[in-house]
Order: sequence, then C-alpha cells, then structure tokens
Amino acid sequence: MIISGKELAAELKGKMAADVVKYTEQYGRPPHLVVILVGEDPASVSYVTGKAKDSLEVGFRNTTIRKPETISEEELVALVEELNDDPEVDGILVQLPLPKHISESKIIATISHEKDVDGFHPMNVAALWQKQGGVVACTPKGVIELLDKAGVEIEGKRAVVIGRSNIVGLPVSKLLLDRNATVTIAHSRTKNLAEITRSAEILVVAIGKPKFVTADMVSEGVVIMDVGVNRDPATGKLCGDVDFEGCKEKASVITPVPGGCGPMTRCCLMENTIECYLNLMNKRNK
Ligand code: NAP
Repeated sequence: MIISGKELAAELKGKMAADVVKYTEQYGRPPHLVVILVGEDPASVSYVTGKAKDSLEVGFRNTTIRKPETISEEELVALVEELNDDPEVDGILVQLPLPKHISESKIIATISHEKDVDGFHPMNVAALWQKQGGVVACTPKGVIELLDKAGVEIEGKRAVVIGRSNIVGLPVSKLLLDRNATVTIAHSRTKNLAEITRSAEILVVAIGKPKFVTADMVSEGVVIMDVGVNRDPATGKLCGDVDFEGCKEKASVITPVPGGCGPMTRCCLMENTIECYLNLMNKRNK
C-alpha cells in the first residue's frame, strides 16, 4: 500500500478549515501564525511560501516577516520577544537554518514555548520526554498520523529508526516508544545496519542520503516511512532516503517522496498552530 501524505493532509486541512470557522466565531478572530524568514535561501523561501499557502487554506491569518541575512542576533531576539508579547499572535516559527552568526538554539529558546508551533523549544522537548503533553515536533507527529491512517498497529512492533536528529529521529523514536513499539535507533556509527533494518516491522528513515535504503536491507511485509528529502543525483528529481521502486515490492506500506511525510509535516504545523491558539484563548478567558 502506497500511503499518500498529500491526500491525508488535504483531508485533515479540510476538517481544520471547518473548525477554524467555528473558532473564529467563538473567539472573535482566527489563529494567527507568524513565520520569520532570514535571508534568501531558495529552499527556505519555498518552505515559507508553502506554510503561508497552507495557513490561508485553513483560514488562518498568516504573516511572513522577511529579514536580511545581515540581521544581528540581538535584533532577531528582540523581534521574537515582541511577537511573544503580542496577544494577536498565536504561533511563531523561525525558518531554519539561520545564518552562522546567529545561534539557532538561542532563537529557539527565545520563542515562547506556548507559541512554539515547531515544537523545538527545550520545554516542549522536555514535555515530550517526560510525557507531559506540550507541542510535538511536526515531522514526527506527521509520521505517526500517517501510520494511524494506514491502519498500522504500532503496539508490540519492532520499530527501527535510522537517524537521531533532534527534529526527526529522536522525537519519532519517543513517539513510537510511547505507542509501545520496541524501538532501535540506528545512526552513522551503527554496525551491520542492514541486519538491524531487516529485523524491522516498522522502518522510519531520516538520514538525508538519496535512495540509501535498498530492497536487500528490508524484510517482506515491512512498513516503511521515508522522511528523507533529497535530489536524485542521476535525475535531479526529488527523492527519499529509500529506494522506493526496489522497496515497494517488499513493503506492506510505504510512503513516496514527494507526497508522503512532507505534506504531513506542513499539516501538523497547522494542527500545532490551532493547539497553541486554543490554549492561549482558553487561558485568557479563564
Ligand atoms: P540530520 O540532522 O543530518 O541527521 C541525519 C541522521 O542520519 C543522523 O543521526 C546521522 O547519524 C544519520 N546518518 C547519516 N548517515 C548515515 C548512515 N550512513 N547510516 C546510518 N545513519 C546515518 O538530518 P535530519 O534533519 O534528521 O533530516 C533527515 C532527512 O529528513 C533529510 O533528508 C531532511 O531533508 C529530511 N527532513 C524532512 C522533513 C519533512 O518534512 N519531510 C523534515 C525534516 C527533515 P549521526 O547522528 O551518527 O550523525
């Protein structure tokens, strides 16, 4: 089964749009997402444009603030603090990566954890690891929603996650663990990787290497969630970390790239914005 993140995202965004109409009546205004883009990196420009498009589709107010690459760390901190204090702003996202002279961790920690729609703030990360709720990072959340949509039973399964980054590998591993999978996390120093991946009933791949996982590395019936977004060096086209054509013959469920985990990441950003908005509105109305 090839599971389309594009279709699920469209379905979920349709439901969110209907909810946003109700919330707007109830609270007097729609959710407001502010995205800050520093510099002109084409990939970042395209991501920010996609986020603005999705925001409008679900009925949010969207503001994109563009700043030159020369902005200082102090100026960016001041801008984020201003947005933290603005009662008309519910979600703040600073598009990464930032120029080298700006500390990403400092900026992430400056965003109010209550408006941290990316789920990267240390308090949201701690909340995930301590099972205390909080905003969950968009890509890992999208992977779990796709597994649920495909009807994959997670409990009791042997899951292997390749990649241990803070934004994908680690949080997706924790979410799988919380759903009672038995999780192995593999990385660049893992020995005999293929032996480990062949033991997987659920395989999540987030490495950043085109078509790295080949058919001989997976077992019959495996569920494959391919998070990677790369350019195929041979064709220049977008491709995942998994050799889709080879692996789809063996997999029971597999996500394509593009159209798999990517659209779900953006969809979960919309979900997180609504979550932050509702929390803030309910807190204010207490
Ligand atoms: P990252 O921070 O570069 O982490 C890559 C991980 O892969 C690291 O943990 C690294 O191990 C591991 N790795 C690298 N080479 C390996 C190898 N040969 N064997 C086993 N493990 C290896 O990347 P990321 O931010 O997690 O992103 C991963 C991919 O997902 C990228 O293609 C990115 O574009 C994509 N992505 C997609 C979305 C989406 O919306 N779909 C969102 C975020 C990221 P070490 O820890 O040992 O270095």
